[in-house]
Amino acid sequence: MAVEFGQGTKCVQGGYRPGNGEPRQVPIVQSTTFKYESSEAMGRLFDLEDSGYFYTRLQNPTNDAVAAKIAELEGGCAAMLTSSGQAANFFALFNICECGSHIVASSSIYGGTFNLIAVTMAKMGIEVTFVSPDCSEEELNGAFKENTRAVFGETIANPALTVLDIELFAKAAHAHGVPLIVDNTFPTPVNCQPIKWGADIVTHSTTKYMDGHGAGVGGAIVDSGHFDWMAHKDKFPGLCQPDDSYHGIVYAEKFGKEGAFITKATSQLMRDFGSIQSPQNAFLLNMGLESLHVRMARHVENGQAMAEFLEKHPKIEKVSYSGLKSDPFYEVAQKYLPQGGCGVVSFEIKGGRKAAEAFMKELKIAAIETHVADARTCCLNPATSTHRQMTDEQLAAAGIPAGLVRLSCGLEDAADLIADVENALKAV
Ligand SMILES: *Cc1c(COP(=O)(O)O)cnc(C)c1O
Repeated sequence: MAVEFGQGTKCVQGGYRPGNGEPRQVPIVQSTTFKYESSEAMGRLFDLEDSGYFYTRLQNPTNDAVAAKIAELEGGCAAMLTSSGQAANFFALFNICECGSHIVASSSIYGGTFNLIAVTMAKMGIEVTFVSPDCSEEELNGAFKENTRAVFGETIANPALTVLDIELFAKAAHAHGVPLIVDNTFPTPVNCQPIKWGADIVTHSTTKYMDGHGAGVGGAIVDSGHFDWMAHKDKFPGLCQPDDSYHGIVYAEKFGKEGAFITKATSQLMRDFGSIQSPQNAFLLNMGLESLHVRMARHVENGQAMAEFLEKHPKIEKVSYSGLKSDPFYEVAQKYLPQGGCGVVSFEIKGGRKAAEAFMKELKIAAIETHVADARTCCLNPATSTHRQMTDEQLAAAGIPAGLVRLSCGLEDAADLIADVENALKAV
């Protein structure tokens, strides 16, 4: 879809352009395989000489249409869907890292991604240096090593809600000849397009706002097409040297800056790891994307109203929401998220774990769930759920007070959500 269209038009109509008499809605191509008249025709696909479909583990037309929409929304040139956000972040990193590589990552990231990088990828021989998302330029530059191959951060971190200075991180990455990968799950491209600020690769857990209805787990990777792999070919042998598993293809030569990253991730990583999104889930994801621009505005409106209410409440110790002037990330958010960030608000209830438990028990609209970014409001107290193995002292050291509640404001009426929270706070 032409770049001059707005984000709303792209949400509704991007990615799929039916011809005369073709289905108006993206068809679900519920087929694992595709038919060919000659082995020669199929052989050309295997050799990456022609583009086309042969097996859904690699590519499927439904997924490609939805990925194309996400690429248009992010201002990228190519994209792929994955079975989960975890798979998206793993593929994005592993596409350019191998045993002996090093990653610079923001320390304020999703717990699953933290484990992936700090524990699982470490077992593969890939090291990491974590830096604070609000570190100085000097500290950031000091984290790079000879073998650094990527920089990673989240636009708005889950659950800490810190905001990444994308331009600063991109500048440092590029000064060291490596790309910046940004997980843009929380703001979505409706509220921030990291590529405009210098990010090279953007990832998503589409499970969150993009799907928006808690219906399907999924992920996406978008390539800006801006990073010049060949200019740093010693750092990226996987893209710039012959791939033995593909008759010696050199991805960066054959597919150029715009095609190399996603082609390699599809034809090599998806082939070998097989984390494809099901076409049925891609269809559901597309239904979510069609209203993303309308929903994000409401999530932000509800999040902002809730944050302002909580900030004034005497039983609340502290509120984290980058739309509040009192938030340490307010200034950065004004720059990168001028229309607001998302509907997730974190707050600390006075009285710790017990108070948080008593509060959550009384909620009538907000449900206790290990989920965020849903049409229905949900909340979580890390101390009694995801982090329940930790003592109060350990929690405090990790920056997660025992009384912390992460509230994901849904699409209900703000007045009802606030009344629900106000009433539940009476039990504290
Ligand atoms: C949820 C989440 C992930 C992981 O995504 P899944 O779809 O659950 O695998 C990654 N990054 C962020 C920011 C998330 O919120």
